[in-house]
Amino acid sequence: MDWLIPLGDVDFGVEEETAVLEVLRSRWLTMGAVTQSFESEFAAMVGSRHAIAVNNATAALHLACLACGIGPGDEVIVPSLTFVATANAIRYTGATPVFADIVSEHDLTVSVDSIEKCLTEKTRAIIVMHYGGYACDMQAIMAFANQHGLAVIEDAAHSAGSTLEGRGLGSWGRVGCYSFFSNKNMTTGEGGMLVTDDDATADKLRNLRSHGMTAMTWERHKGHAWSYDVTALGYNYRIDEIHSAIGRVQLGKLSFNNGRRAQAVARYHELLQELTPSVTVPFQSHRGVSSYHIFPILLPKGKDRQAFMEGMKSHRIQTSIHYPPIHRFSAYASLNQSARMPLPITEEVVGREVTLPLYPGLSDDDVLTVVQAVRESMN
Ligand SMILES: *Cc1c(COP(=O)(O)O)cnc(C)c1O
Repeated sequence: MDWLIPLGDVDFGVEEETAVLEVLRSRWLTMGAVTQSFESEFAAMVGSRHAIAVNNATAALHLACLACGIGPGDEVIVPSLTFVATANAIRYTGATPVFADIVSEHDLTVSVDSIEKCLTEKTRAIIVMHYGGYACDMQAIMAFANQHGLAVIEDAAHSAGSTLEGRGLGSWGRVGCYSFFSNKNMTTGEGGMLVTDDDATADKLRNLRSHGMTAMTWERHKGHAWSYDVTALGYNYRIDEIHSAIGRVQLGKLSFNNGRRAQAVARYHELLQELTPSVTVPFQSHRGVSSYHIFPILLPKGKDRQAFMEGMKSHRIQTSIHYPPIHRFSAYASLNQSARMPLPITEEVVGREVTLPLYPGLSDDDVLTVVQAVRESMN
């Protein structure tokens, strides 16, 4: 499809190309000095003690669950309104996801009331997801988790550059997980990052990232080690220097590009209110500073979403949905959510949600073109 306005677009230039060429010419491709720089720069941006780069955010979430001691027999509370990887990571460990509802049609993040209702004696942890880069109510979630001795993992895939009370999203819980997949605010193609302030957790994450080995190829190359022990059943979830080199350049552009996203969102708010007042725009007010990862709208109740999206397509404007809720997927049927907690707000909102184009290069004129198409597609 030849889109006039795509859903998203990357900001890649000669800087990324040069960074990749430098790595290729250095002849050291596996995890090494470039990755270490990427990690320390990312940790500084978030304000965490440790950052550990991995091959994608799904691997990051899996390692986060393992490092928090989650395993068979445990329950982990997680929103149903997130990407399936958030809940899959829980199941990889043998634990059971228990789905919580969202706050309201104005705040699509997980509800603290609903989290409280999901608590059982088996609950071990909570995974929150900062939908669209908008902060969950972290003060209340951390207070509840601390009261009950639960670990908090943040799926921060949407929220690179988001802050709450001046602290990076991802640095509030025990472990934060970021994605550098190609549609995220900063991208390496495939890639991910873990952050934590806890030294022991960081050691575990680094160990599990690389086969449970005590010394890495890089350390052996540097002459610091000649053998190793294997102390846990680990994985190969490593990133490489090519991806890290792209990540360093993208990280340098993140703050500027998130600012451009913010401008486009402000323009959307203005024009949607003026031209299509029947559309609900979530997160008009929100906590903290958002990364503005995606721009969700909710169609009026009863409006045919598929027809609306077809209308947008006929204007060559790409739209998407975030997300089909996880509890309804076939692979999740055996968990029988309906026997657990009803999710009335999620159920109501998910049929109305449409995601409009948002990326740093989206101009004011582009936003006007999109909103005019929204108005025509409403008829
Ligand atoms: C993209 C995404 C992931 C998965 O990230 P990958 O890097 O593709 O593994 C997980 N959770 C959310 C909310 C995401 O948007």
